[in-house]
Amino acid sequence: MADTGIGKGFNMQMQSSWYERIAAPRTSTCLACRKTIPYYGEIANLGAEDWRRPLCTSCLEHIPFIDEVGCSSCGRHIRCEDCQRQPLQSYGLAYNRSVVQYHDHMKEWLAMCKYKGDQSFARVMAGMMIERYMPLALTAKVNKPARSTSDWWTMLKEWWNPESIIEVPDLITYVPSSLERLEERGFNQAELLAGYLAKAWGRPLLSCLDRVRDMGKQSQQSRAGREHSLEGTFVWNKEAFQGIRFYIARQPKPHLHILLVDDVYTTGSTIRACASALREGLNEIRIPGMISSYTWARA
Ligand SMILES: [Zn+2]
Ligand SMILES: [Zn+2]
Repeated sequence: MADTGIGKGFNMQMQSSWYERIAAPRTSTCLACRKTIPYYGEIANLGAEDWRRPLCTSCLEHIPFIDEVGCSSCGRHIRCEDCQRQPLQSYGLAYNRSVVQYHDHMKEWLAMCKYKGDQSFARVMAGMMIERYMPLALTAKVNKPARSTSDWWTMLKEWWNPESIIEVPDLITYVPSSLERLEERGFNQAELLAGYLAKAWGRPLLSCLDRVRDMGKQSQQSRAGREHSLEGTFVWNKEAFQGIRFYIARQPKPHLHILLVDDVYTTGSTIRACASALREGLNEIRIPGMISSYTWARA
């Protein structure tokens, strides 16, 4: 075909869009394994319910979800002795729930989020946490509102849809990161996750805890050493608890539910230390409340 020069730019434009649409349909790569997957656009534009889209079917199939809660206290998939030795309730924590078992590839996901600074993973992890919250909370009997047998409406609702009677927590908070880690990574992944949860549920995100003392390398310490080293690491933040007071004054609650968020529950020492500090704060402002924790993974 002779090139007349007239309308060339126009034709080229048509050609490129045709080419894009037909000859080379846009594709994306799986966030975890880089396999080619259908195009999902920008991860920042995806809703929480779309968390599966940046992952390939194989990666999705291999997510070790905790479908059956083996320990009603810490949410582990099997019964555990830890909770008998150190009941979470004695630290002021009602229970913990987690979405996945901390298997090797889940460790890789977290490492990508934590150490490579890929915050896209936090969106996927938060999407998983939002989706699984209700069924997991339902396994914690303590979260069910007390009802009398005459409350037929609640009973009917519970029979029809058990999840409908579980309320999302009133306030969301998170395990604070050390200043050193924050400078190193530029963000605190627990705060990121908590922020997504708070936004999805329309609940306030409060920075209720301060890390006052940095422990040594956690992973190199024995369990006892670790528990000891965490003593006094976290303190409740006075301003945040003042905020809780205002919140309660505005919308009175018979029982405040604070959710403590972290990425992973390993021995539970961090969660326990944080819960103790939160409990102290609640006692100080004389507000009756329940503290539960929610982590993406449970080792
Ligand atoms: Zn994949
Ligand atoms: Zn347990």
